[in-house]
Amino acid sequence: MSCLFCKIIAGEIPSAKVYEDEKVYAFKDISPQAPVHVLVVPREHIESADKIDATNSATVAAVFEAIPKVATACGLTCGYRVITNIGEDGCQSVKHIHFHILGGEKLPENMGN
Ligand code: 5GP
Ligand code: ZN
Repeated sequence: MSCLFCKIIAGEIPSAKVYEDEKVYAFKDISPQAPVHVLVVPREHIESADKIDATNSATVAAVFEAIPKVATACGLTCGYRVITNIGEDGCQSVKHIHFHILGGEKLPENMGN
């Protein structure tokens, strides 16, 4: 298995766990871009949001059901941002679908560049 996030989910690489359930794992980003920066990933390997289809959308739904729980666990009572990067132009560096949860402060309005 060569996927970094599959290794993290399997416990082969250590991570700072924030939340987990049967289908989802959430852990602190190693290089935080905000006071709270957590990555929420499905245990099932899906390359990116561009690969979501009818065979795996229930897994993605489980991620979105987990997101409010992750936010609560992180104390994000005033809102937060959810981002997923896709492919080359989206600057996706890890090819296992993941959702960045950013918060803990008022975030910049400009999301483009
Ligand atoms: P992407 O650029 O693919 O959207 O996001 C990948 C994220 O994974 C980056 O924010 C990066 O800091 C984070 N990351 C990369 N390697 C590791 C790691 O080994 N552990 C953790 N916790 N985060 C990582
Ligand atoms: Zn993977």
